[in-house]
Amino acid sequence: MRVLVIEDETKVGCFIKRALEEESYAVDLYEDGAKGLEMALATNYDLLVVDLMLPSMSGMDILKTVRRERIQTPVLILSAQSQIDQRVKGLDAGADDYLTKPFAIDELLARVRALIRRGATETPGILQVDDLIFNPATRDVTRGGQRIDLTLKEYALLEYLMRHAGRVLTRPMISEHVWNQDFDTFTNVIDVYVNYLRNKIDRGRAKKLIHTIRGSGYMLKAD
Ligand code: CA
Repeated sequence: MRVLVIEDETKVGCFIKRALEEESYAVDLYEDGAKGLEMALATNYDLLVVDLMLPSMSGMDILKTVRRERIQTPVLILSAQSQIDQRVKGLDAGADDYLTKPFAIDELLARVRALIRRGATETPGILQVDDLIFNPATRDVTRGGQRIDLTLKEYALLEYLMRHAGRVLTRPMISEHVWNQDFDTFTNVIDVYVNYLRNKIDRGRAKKLIHTIRGSGYMLKAD
């Protein structure tokens, strides 16, 4: 799940980025409003976290432009205490939620989880494919009742595969949602991580869940 954060207070922005990365999200951080908007329009994010007061373009204008372009990605607005009326305008303009600064990071993370859950329409809280069960809230992954320990990136990759189970996912789709913009698409990193996942999820089991679709990418499915 990939998140765009547009926040001009360097400390706050870096704090959010680090916290989200620790939860396995891929995060792009921009301090400039116009540059952030450019990224929001060019990239298929799963969530936007947008501060209201930004250099070169306000969070409100970013939000309005994004919605005018028919991008339905959930948007979480960050606002200062003094901008209560702006929050109402933000919700009216198509924001999905708002958070007043200063905020507790746990609250931000809880709201991010809720928005991403809502954004992926009709996706239940707990994801299941065959006997593979994934709980995004507790970050527990089990197969056949056996607990599986994953690294942050493996976890992010598995979540993306499970949220789109039964669909062919190309390498560009995977890199766009699981890695951030610093990712070099010419490496075989995706294949390497899929193999890590395979080792943990499919190895030694009769039924394989991760399938290679020759010439296209990967698919997670029960048969
Ligand atoms: Ca600001």
